[in-house]
Amino acid sequence: MSCETRLDAAVLADYWLGLVAESEAERLEEHLFGCEECSARLARVAEMAEGVRRLAREGSLLMVVSESFLKQAAEEGKRIRRYDPPKGGGVQCTVTAEDDLLIGGLAVDLREARRVDLSLCDPLGKEQMRLADIPFAAGAGSVLWQQSITFAKAAPNSTMVARLIDVGEAGEERVLGEYTFNHTRTLPGPGAW
Ligand SMILES: [Zn+2]
Repeated sequence: MSCETRLDAAVLADYWLGLVAESEAERLEEHLFGCEECSARLARVAEMAEGVRRLAREGSLLMVVSESFLKQAAEEGKRIRRYDPPKGGGVQCTVTAEDDLLIGGLAVDLREARRVDLSLCDPLGKEQMRLADIPFAAGAGSVLWQQSITFAKAAPNSTMVARLIDVGEAGEERVLGEYTFNHTRTLPGPGAW
């Protein structure tokens, strides 16, 4: 027996992480109760979501985080290394073996931003990776970018340029801020100079 109104995996993930409204949750639960196929899919999504959540908490994901995420991490005893380069400027940074989370605080005015992308570029400005449509609070005054600590601990001396970009409806882009991270490897191992 196959389901004709298969619940979307993203919806299932939101449901599992408690991100849907109560009325929506009830609707989903009603469907899940009667549908073996979607229940089985929920189990797989839940496993994945837990894996992602664990990676996020371990600092191993490159992502945008909130002040409350950092506050909770600090309360759990996590060691947070944070750099706040000035907008348009740069900062010397590193990571040590004891650090759990690596955060870049990107000061920016988001009051008129619509869709914001975080673009990560090499020193020549060539984009290496982009997080599209990141979550942000218009009044926050900054974006907290978590670099994967696993990646950072293995990274050689290198320079990375982070850009916050406002993307308009027609796809036009406006740079809101640019920040240069000059990373010096302080951990021994391959990649150390
Ligand atoms: Zn179903």
